[in-house]
Amino acid sequence: MNVKEILNNLETKHPGEKEYLQAVHEVLESIENIYNENPQYASAKIIERLVEPDRVFTFRISWVDDNGEVQVNLGHRIQFNNAIGPYKGGIRLHPSVNLSILKFLGFEQIFKNALTTLPMGGAKGGSDFNPKGKSDAEIMRFCQAFMLELWRVIGPNTDVPAGDIGTGGREIGFMYGMYKKLQQENTGVFTGKGLNWGGSLIRPEATGFGGTYFTKEMLDTQNDNFKGKTVTLSGFGNVTWGVALKVTELGGKVVTISGPDGYVYDEKGLDADKIDYLLALRASNNDIVSPYVQEFPEAKFYPGEKPWSVKCDIAMPCATQNELNGEDAQKLVDNGVKYVSEVSNMGCTPDAIEVFHKNKILFAPGKAVNAGGVAVSGLEMSQNAMKLNWPMEEVDSKLHQIMTSIHTACIKYGTEPDGYVNYVKGANIAGFIKVADAMMDQGVV
Ligand code: GLU
Repeated sequence: MNVKEILNNLETKHPGEKEYLQAVHEVLESIENIYNENPQYASAKIIERLVEPDRVFTFRISWVDDNGEVQVNLGHRIQFNNAIGPYKGGIRLHPSVNLSILKFLGFEQIFKNALTTLPMGGAKGGSDFNPKGKSDAEIMRFCQAFMLELWRVIGPNTDVPAGDIGTGGREIGFMYGMYKKLQQENTGVFTGKGLNWGGSLIRPEATGFGGTYFTKEMLDTQNDNFKGKTVTLSGFGNVTWGVALKVTELGGKVVTISGPDGYVYDEKGLDADKIDYLLALRASNNDIVSPYVQEFPEAKFYPGEKPWSVKCDIAMPCATQNELNGEDAQKLVDNGVKYVSEVSNMGCTPDAIEVFHKNKILFAPGKAVNAGGVAVSGLEMSQNAMKLNWPMEEVDSKLHQIMTSIHTACIKYGTEPDGYVNYVKGANIAGFIKVADAMMDQGVV
């Protein structure tokens, strides 16, 4: 079967799973030529095997809220592919979570993890539980109930979960506590753990720092740098915080952040105090960014709008999938954007990517840009296995090296005859070859 037939079959088989089909479509489009040039992949049905998860677990989670009312949520874990290492990927807790979203994230994770050069397969999990507005006790009871099912299928050499939207240090703590109780073993089965119980330095910053290191490499290719550049970010969580911290350190000016309620424009740019305030905003457990302008009245809040109409040199979406569409992309291009570096997973729609490519804007996809998060998770696993903790500088320099190597891989596989770098193609081909060749070596399983 050729790539188009495989895609058509998949659409018939999983008609409602639009995010998952979108992610598969993007990868298959990029690798079509490589696939056609290497008939061994077709005879081993590599794509047909790669696009279906190894297995999917779905379970009910029952817990009791602070009012004594019973709550029921749905939980999932998708073990997508373990050709190059144990299943690895975060847990998303958000009311929008469904199988299509987790399958897209798990599928992306396979290639992202391959790009890190570390031995990690792809997985994702999550629940439609909404942590916003919940008390610590409610979060704990939910996380414990979630683990009562999940613990059976994870393990330090089997499947290693981590954070994602809605799952941060607090949630990992509650989940890990319950895992340890049930398993009667203190094995570092989660990453993103607390620093005094097996976590790694730089893990909280890793996605944002890594994304900024990657973007710096993109700028380097144009003999350019962050100094004096205006940068627009979306989101106000952990990833946005890490990007704001590093971009500012490198001399860039971050002028926007956003939430589901709208975006904040801060003309003066975020400084150390404002970046610190992001942590407080996040810890407040409300999903709104507007309190920022009460704290810093020089900034302006635009309710219900996205930050992509603001003039900038570099745009870095950091919130969630499909947060930047074709129209937004056109506004960015009209306003003279030079680089778009997607830090969220699949943050840009296919239409948006088309606009960037058509206008020869350098655009890099999430699976390359945000791989620093899972890369430091891999480094956390190494430290746990050695029962050692590396100093901050060591983890940061390894992260930097990994991001540079991902960028090099994108250049290698994504440079077009006219010299323009198609980072989407580069990242997808580099990730695919590594996983496909590992699957070839391991036979039909
Ligand atoms: N959720 C993050 C991601 O999308 C991190 C996963 C991990 O550390 O395992 O890559």
